[in-house]
Order: sequence, then structure tokens, then C-alpha cells
Amino acid sequence: MKLLEVISLYYKKINSIKNINFKSFDFKNYHLKRIGKNNLFKEKKGSIFTGLSLLFIFCFIISIILILNFSISYQEIISASEDSNSFNYVIENHNKNIPVLSKVVISKLTDDVIKNHNPSYDSREIVKDEIQKKLEKQEEYYQLKNGINIENEVLSVYNGKDPFHINVKTLVNAKKGKESYSNVVESVVSIEGLKDPLPFLMCREHPTLIENGTKIDYNDALSYYMVKNGLLNPKIYENATGSLIIRKCIYDPYKIHGEGYCMKNCIDNGYFHESADGSCYLCRLEGKGSCYHYGLEVFIVPQPKKNINGNITEKSISGSDHVLFNDHYPGNIVEFFKKDDISEILVIDDSHRAKYGIL
Ligand SMILES: [Zn+2]
Ligand SMILES: [Zn+2]
Repeated sequence: MKLLEVISLYYKKINSIKNINFKSFDFKNYHLKRIGKNNLFKEKKGSIFTGLSLLFIFCFIISIILILNFSISYQEIISASEDSNSFNYVIENHNKNIPVLSKVVISKLTDDVIKNHNPSYDSREIVKDEIQKKLEKQEEYYQLKNGINIENEVLSVYNGKDPFHINVKTLVNAKKGKESYSNVVESVVSIEGLKDPLPFLMCREHPTLIENGTKIDYNDALSYYMVKNGLLNPKIYENATGSLIIRKCIYDPYKIHGEGYCMKNCIDNGYFHESADGSCYLCRLEGKGSCYHYGLEVFIVPQPKKNINGNITEKSISGSDHVLFNDHYPGNIVEFFKKDDISEILVIDDSHRAKYGIL
């Protein structure tokens, strides 16, 4: 439409130039005596026509360029929208969305578990059903927006090789006209950034622990748990702190924790570590302090001590979470950082000392 308007505007302009020049031409101001009225008119008329012809050709060329440009960009828009609506593009996008939706589902389940201090009785089955529901809502969306009939069946939610990941297997079938797709999609969901539900379940009988930013303040919840379970020296874990948000430790191999300020930084950041003895994320949701899957461990840190002089002979349960919540074996106190007269300490057994390079 705009192009037509531009062309008609040019056409009108040419006509108006024709009209103005012919009607309002002032012959009186010219030296009519010398060249004569008719000659002058013919001469002027000729040059006006030449000028008008050039102007017309110029406008014609501009119009052609504009038309070509317009049609090229119009073609680009059409092909771009065909791409974003294309069958393969929509399926690819859908498949990429499965781990995103899965993480939302797991995060919601974790929040419920923490809020209610109530373990999930079968986290894999619950997560699987919830992802299924979310994907079914998406099916209606693709049908309405792209006219593609997508069907999803979540086959399993399971542990992969990496304890920082949860794997989801989904059968995706899709159809639109003659195009069809069928594939088992394996999605990897990172658990980094999710909360650790385990401490809230282990301390649920006396839940005085609270979330404090990316940390957990245990108050007297952990010492209460230790008293209840007849564990060694509960007092040392009064007002202990732990990690709330799952983050993978950057100090790998773990032996370098003993060097410089690595252990201090690891504790400050609340990093989690791979552990064959620690429980995996899905089992943490079920309130299991340990499981047969390859899992995670994190340190629970006693309140810093004042004025420590010499070696501390005091002992308690080793501070790795799977030891405190499941295995219950003792460790010695080590100071990993000191400033002025305040010592930051850990309770750690020999095997964990060796794992983290603390001699
Ligand atoms: Zn670490
Ligand atoms: Zn497990």
C-alpha cells in the first residue's frame, strides 16, 4: 500500500509541475522583440519536456528499487515466520524445554518438603507425575499456536553418573499433516541452585533451624537431634551452620582443600561435594541421610570458638552431613581459619581428612 501511495504521489507531482509551468509562464518578461513569442515558447516547452522526462525516469528507477527492496524483505519475513513455525523447530524447542520445566517441578517439591518438614514418600514417582502434568499443559499450547499435535509420556526420573544432575526420560510423539516425529528424549536437569531439603527433614522433630540467605542456621535443632540419637558431644553443634543452596565445589581434586584458604572459601560458599556415601538429591527429598546412589556431601560447621590455645582434645561426630545424619562416627576438631582470637573449626574423621587433603 505504501509503495502505491509513493508512486501516485510522484505521478501527481509530475502533473502539478506540468500545470504550473504551462499556465503561469510569464512571457512578458522576456525579450519578445528579438526572438519572437512562438520561438521562445517552443524553446522553453522543449527544455521543460526534457526535464520532465529525466525526472520521470529518475522516479521510475527509484520506484523499481523500492519495489525490489520491499519484496526482498517481505520474502525474508515470510521465510523467518515459516522457520519459527516449522515442525522441526517447534519440536526442538519443546525438547529443550523439558529440563527447564522439570527443574521448576523439583524446586516446587523441595519447597513443599521444607515448608511442611514432610518427606516425599517416592520422589522419583512424584516428580515424574508432576512433569507429566506440566507437559500436558504444553500440549494444548502447541496445538493452538502451531497446529502441532504433541504427545509426551514421561518414562522415568533417575540418577545419572553425575550427582549434580537428575535425568528425565520422555517419549515424545508429534504430528502435523504429513510430518511426524517419535523419539525418546533424555534430559539432564542440573540441581545447582536448588535448596537442600535433608536438614529440614532430619531435624523435623525439633525444627528450630532456619534459612539464612544461602545458609542454614541450625540453632539448637542439630544438637537436639544428636541428644535424641545418643550421639557424642551434641553441645559442639549448638548454633552450627550449614549450606542451604546446592553449589558444586570448585576445588577439584578435593585434596587441594588443605592448601591456603581453599577450605575457608569452600565453607564460606557452602559448596557441595561428590560422595559415594552421601545421599543423592532425590533421596534427600525422601529424608534419607545416605543411599546406594552416588551422592553428595556438605560440611556442617560448629560455631567458631574463642581463645583456643594448643591442640583441642574434644571430639564429636564428624561434620560431613551423611556422617551426622546417618553414619554417626567420630572425628577430631581442626581449626581451618583463625582471625584475632576467633577460630573457625570443623569436626573431621581420618578418611575425610585424607579426601580433602587436611593433614
Ligand atoms: Zn569444597
Ligand atoms: Zn539416592
